[in-house]
Amino acid sequence: MVCSRVKLLDGKNILVTGVANRWSIASGIAHQLHDHGARLAFIYQGERVKGEVEKLAAELGGGPAIECDVSSDQALRALNDQVGKDFGKLDGVVHSIAFANKEDLMGKVYDTSRAGFSSTLDISAYSLIALVQALRETLNDRASIVALTYLGATAIVPNYNLMGIAKAALEASIRYLAFDLGERGIRVNAISAGPIKTASARQVKGFSLMLDKVGQAAPLRRNITAEDVGKTAVYLMSDLSDAVTADVHFVDAGYHAMGMYPDKSDALET
Ligand code: NAP
Repeated sequence: MVCSRVKLLDGKNILVTGVANRWSIASGIAHQLHDHGARLAFIYQGERVKGEVEKLAAELGGGPAIECDVSSDQALRALNDQVGKDFGKLDGVVHSIAFANKEDLMGKVYDTSRAGFSSTLDISAYSLIALVQALRETLNDRASIVALTYLGATAIVPNYNLMGIAKAALEASIRYLAFDLGERGIRVNAISAGPIKTASARQVKGFSLMLDKVGQAAPLRRNITAEDVGKTAVYLMSDLSDAVTADVHFVDAGYHAMGMYPDKSDALET
């Protein structure tokens, strides 16, 4: 719920990707965008999540839920046609998509297969470029694009492995797309979220331990929620962030800034 009457996204049309269920970060983002007055359209990958996404779309304003596998150029072209027909021009896109085989989220990076590398990079990083390519004429000038990334892009997080490599490519893509689209005033940023228990996150070996560690060690001494991410997405989608682009913004209770991690038994704990 919005506390004040100020709605930062009135009149903005935003496409949200990556809702699989109510625990998805994209669901938390969608709720916040809706609370701030945005009209929302959604994509889903297949029949398995269709019902869930349609339910959320109906709950949050009744916008379209469109089937689209982002690894298919044909599906992306069809998405662009359907968005134009059923929804209108876009003021924002949320990219909240990632995929890796479970075996590539444990063990040794040098065991990664060529096929695993290729599909993970395709779905988790290239899909942002592909979305922009397909939707570029449907994006309004001064639109905002926000993608989800993680600390494992720039620092070693054991077991995050191949997804860290994909997130590094995603973050670099954000910067280059920001340059390409900047002449139209279109902004491209990433939110680097702290760990949140979702279907994708649970694929990473030892995820629950990561969650515990971050909750204890972060400056704010807590984990974050999809709602926290959603609030930052509202800012990045809104005109308040008019001059912010090519940036990776951390929503992780400050964990990324820690250089040492005292625990309760340490003399370092104050
Ligand atoms: P999630 O609920 O499992 O969301 C991932 C979404 O990606 C799902 O909706 C999935 O759809 C979709 N997807 C995968 N392949 C696709 C394809 N080919 N076409 C279209 N959609 C596809 O997990 P999440 O944690 O919210 O992840 C959202 C984003 O946040 C990801 O980029 C993730 O890396 C990032 N992130 C997560 C965390 C965390 O701790 N949870 C932290 C930082 C960043 P299906 O379910 O139908 O496959």
